[in-house]
Amino acid sequence: MMSEPLLRIENLSIEYVVQEGTIKAVRNASFDINEGEIVCLVGESGSGKSTIGLAIAGALPENAIIRGGKIIFQDHDLINQRARTCSKKEIMMIFQDPAASINPLFTIGEIMSDVIKTHLKVHNPNAIKDLALRMLRRVGLPDPERMLRSYPHELSGGMLQRAVIATALSVNPKLLIADEPTTMLDVTLQAQILELLLNLKNDFGLSILLITHNLGIAAEMGGRIIVMYCGEIVEEASSNELIRNPLHPYTKGLLECIPRTSIRYSKLKHIPGIMPDLRNPPSGCVFYGRCSEAIQKCRMIKPSMVQVYENHTVACHLYSRGMR
Ligand code: ATP
Ligand code: SF4
Repeated sequence: MMSEPLLRIENLSIEYVVQEGTIKAVRNASFDINEGEIVCLVGESGSGKSTIGLAIAGALPENAIIRGGKIIFQDHDLINQRARTCSKKEIMMIFQDPAASINPLFTIGEIMSDVIKTHLKVHNPNAIKDLALRMLRRVGLPDPERMLRSYPHELSGGMLQRAVIATALSVNPKLLIADEPTTMLDVTLQAQILELLLNLKNDFGLSILLITHNLGIAAEMGGRIIVMYCGEIVEEASSNELIRNPLHPYTKGLLECIPRTSIRYSKLKHIPGIMPDLRNPPSGCVFYGRCSEAIQKCRMIKPSMVQVYENHTVACHLYSRGMR
């Protein structure tokens, strides 16, 4: 019998209310994350990735409204307020800019202590310190004793991101949501943080939702890739399968945009055109305006997600029954 996924998102729709109208940031998104699995949510800026991450973490801003759908985590519906509070420490989220996500006036030790007290209800100072030191060591930070006494501004970007990861791990979460965790780091540090996340996934049996605009990073992480465009999920497959055999024209475009060392000095490719206005998303295929393979029905009829191969689904009319 198949075990239940750790997290199940069903037909999730989220809007932001702004002065100029309503931004339909996420529409009918559905996907699962299994225990110990890494899932990468990939797409251009503005496609709705962070909104999904924030919704799972229960951290949406006040002007966001969940219009429909379910977020089921370990059998609890997180959109139900009571259940969300119960599960909070089991889901932790880290962000692109670690400095912006923590209070600069407190030392790393004080920040970790506060998180451990709040979420684990541990109040013995020695136990808190032991746990904090263990986590700082585990993420590869040198001299953890000194680290506890350091203020965020005294650490480099890479060190600070490691300290933030250690803080998140100290409460022993089941799911870590990492929203563009390496975007502000140089390439070497990027690789180190991604490798750390993979090791932690294996050592702690952690599930990870990695949010990135970079399909190359998602490919390197293995696991499953979910491609989003303009608030909708358009393709999902294992990373090997998706990179070897992309089906959706948008995914093919994203793949062509990955810089390769051999073409280092050639012009970086981009997908021509811009994403539609999310206040009034298209009623047909969301990618219609930028798609070089569009057919007539794409403009008016929204393609449904269809399974084309085992564990490979896509929302594109080119793969509807009878089209291939
Ligand atoms: P990025 O990497 O740029 O954050 P993303 O794919 O994560 O992109 P989201 O941040 O989820 O996308 O944003 C989806 C849409 O919702 C965008 O059009 C964005 O401008 C809008 N949006 C996000 N947060 C808010 C907010 N608090 N109020 C109004 N609109 C918002
Ligand atoms: Fe292109 Fe049509 Fe497929 Fe949309 S449904 S991606 S417009 S071919």
